[in-house]
Amino acid sequence: MHKKTIKDVDVKGKRVMVRVDFNVPLEHGQITDDRRIRAALPTVQYALRQGASKVILMSHLGRPKGAPLGAPIGAGFEPEFSLKPVAQHLEPLLKEKLLFLDDCVGSAVQAAVAKSSQRVILLENLRFHKAEEKNDPVFAKDLASLADIYVNDAFGTAHRAHASTAGITRYLPSVAGFLIDKELEYLGNAINNPKRPLAVILGGAKVSDKIELIKNLVPKVNAIVIGGGMAYTFLKAQGINVGNSKLEKDKVETARELLEQAKAAGVEMVLTIDFVITKSFDSDDCKISDTIPDGWESLDIGPKTIELYKKVLAKSKTVVWNGPLGVFERDAYANGTRVIAEYLATLFAKGVTVIVGGGDSAAAVAKFGLEEKMTHISTGGGASLEFLEGKELPGIAALNNRG
Ligand code: AMP
Repeated sequence: MHKKTIKDVDVKGKRVMVRVDFNVPLEHGQITDDRRIRAALPTVQYALRQGASKVILMSHLGRPKGAPLGAPIGAGFEPEFSLKPVAQHLEPLLKEKLLFLDDCVGSAVQAAVAKSSQRVILLENLRFHKAEEKNDPVFAKDLASLADIYVNDAFGTAHRAHASTAGITRYLPSVAGFLIDKELEYLGNAINNPKRPLAVILGGAKVSDKIELIKNLVPKVNAIVIGGGMAYTFLKAQGINVGNSKLEKDKVETARELLEQAKAAGVEMVLTIDFVITKSFDSDDCKISDTIPDGWESLDIGPKTIELYKKVLAKSKTVVWNGPLGVFERDAYANGTRVIAEYLATLFAKGVTVIVGGGDSAAAVAKFGLEEKMTHISTGGGASLEFLEGKELPGIAALNNRG
């Protein structure tokens, strides 16, 4: 990577501020999935081992309203978005007492950081201040004033130019943490320097979310496998009846163009050929069918499609997967996503590189208990999508270059 990492700077005796992604799911104050917390540990532990005087952690959690600029301290606090449960969860993982502060800027925070006997400090939710998402320079400077070195390890928000991901880099030496470094290495190699053939599986709800991605992928990949809700717009573009299935009418022409571009580039485009259909989205009453008659909609790929996808994937040395292949949240329509995820696990066992984009595909892999059976599962849904689209992520672009 051409960006500096925490290994390129001397943190000994320094106050190191790490932007982490502790945006974890909470139910009744309990963390239901702590992967993002565990993913941050290597960077925090490294900074401690290297003798950082303080490691100050900051993150957002959810979408609180946020207090406007100039509001009194604490005005943006909303208990359901507090990072306090994360502090309690983090302490035993780190095996280190930590100090949790009830805000992230202000003179009380400054004083508490200065006199803390704990080396690890977690600040309260950055988004209790509107200034965070506005990338406000005064807020960014206030955050920066707490530390000597800034480390970004929040891959999940690297596609956003916020005060804690972009603005702060104007005031401190700024480097990447291990998680961002790892994400860029795996995602970057998969697309730009893969073992070939390279196949990409795309699913999820909407074509419109994936148009830029497909455009960027066509010159780089050997095969694109399309399933999920987005497949029906492509099928429609080929004149196939899709009944009441998810369809973006205004994207049928774009789908046709993408199919032509792929054909011209020699990229194998593989679409759904049979379906799990139902008369009502809310019903689990369904059947397998080669067609989607009027009045029916398809919520999963059928068995012939699964075999077809497997044949294409079997030829690949690298597979990148982004988006579920059906309504995997419901058992009646989870089969296609599960069987393909299980097949990817067998390919991984045979030495194929399998990269799973974040968000719903990562949730699906976790639901089926296959997390340890993939090469890499990205921690960033939107960020991994934008990276694979070939876009520059502002939170990474802002870090110091090597050399
Ligand atoms: P995305 O947010 O674009 O990754 O889309 C994920 C969502 O797409 C999941 O919640 C799935 O339930 C949904 N999805 C997948 N396949 C279908 C389908 N055939 N019809 C409707 N929704 C689908």
